[in-house]
Amino acid sequence: VAAERIHDAFSVPFEIDGVEVFSTVSIGIAVWKPTYEKPEDLLRDSDTAMYRAKARGRNNFAVFDEEMHARVVRTLKLETDLRRAIAREEFRVYYQPIVSITVGRITGFEVLVRWEHPERGLLLPAEFIQVAEEMGAIIQIDRFVAEDACTQLRAWQNTYRHNPPLNVAVNVSGTQFMRPDLVTQIDHILRKTGLYGRSLTLEVTESVLMENAQYAAEMLEQLRSLDIRISIDDFGTGYSSLAYLRRFKVDTLKIDYSFVSRMLADEENSQIVKTIRTLANNLGKQTVAEGVETRSQYEALKELGVDRAQGMYISPPLPVEQADELLA
Ligand code: C2E
Ligand code: CA
Ligand code: CA
Repeated sequence: VAAERIHDAFSVPFEIDGVEVFSTVSIGIAVWKPTYEKPEDLLRDSDTAMYRAKARGRNNFAVFDEEMHARVVRTLKLETDLRRAIAREEFRVYYQPIVSITVGRITGFEVLVRWEHPERGLLLPAEFIQVAEEMGAIIQIDRFVAEDACTQLRAWQNTYRHNPPLNVAVNVSGTQFMRPDLVTQIDHILRKTGLYGRSLTLEVTESVLMENAQYAAEMLEQLRSLDIRISIDDFGTGYSSLAYLRRFKVDTLKIDYSFVSRMLADEENSQIVKTIRTLANNLGKQTVAEGVETRSQYEALKELGVDRAQGMYISPPLPVEQADELLA
């Protein structure tokens, strides 16, 4: 009731130096409880609730609860752990094979990061990538992963002579893609590891590219000078502008697993996969299907003329030793 009364009071403009000013208010509420020892405890919790209110949009209010507290503590701990993980290099690079459906051979790998957490064991990206992105730590993680993967790939290319040479696909976060020095950084990694540009693919999601379409088009143009490959990740889940799709200098559309996983269950998803394949081919681009889990999905993709496949049916993401055995 009090929060609504305050919001009502702010619904009319007030005047400062003859100028009418409108303002919204975000309100955080904490109710006193016996465990509070000092006034600051109450302020801290109402502050937490206020940030929750802000996250819900303008002119909102929120009442503090224990779940909010637990969440703040969890995030703080994760941030501290991530800083330590970077310093101690606790990240592991996993390799998931990508095969050519037409030739039936491995063409390369997508690299997927894992975190060997000293207490919690091996963590998947879903547990930490978002927080890493929010605190900026993703830059260091992605750099580490890319350098490690390029070094490894160079070694594999020497041992296993595929034609064309094995390729490695690295995920690029939105933060990383928006950095003006991305080209310099990739160039540095290529020089340092001796990998040819055309053996490296950067995977950027459709939403990152389309949200900043003009900037993305220019960035892709610049990346072109390194002779690397670009793949649009999670294709079909965002809102692609066809005009931009034509302009973007990308090599591959990566069909999102949500379409692949349901393509046999309903005809519509199969049609979507087919449409993406046709669109890609008409624009002179290739297609990779991700999340292929069964033989029948693989056969259906082959039927539709999709170029490459990746997923559990072929192999889960593997630690480096196992990927090496597979190549051997
Ligand atoms: P993504 O790029 O779409 O990666 C594909 C995800 O599908 C991976 O999850 C992979 O393990 C999983 N996958 C593979 N085969 C199958 C399958 O047959 N069925 C299903 N349902 N899933 C399959 P993962 O490793 O948990 O990675 C999740 C996401 O985290 C990735 O999605 C990517 O966006 C991000 N990510 C992973 N590694 C990195 C990294 O080094 N840097 C950045 N910036 N992001 C990363
Ligand atoms: Ca990817
Ligand atoms: Ca994907």
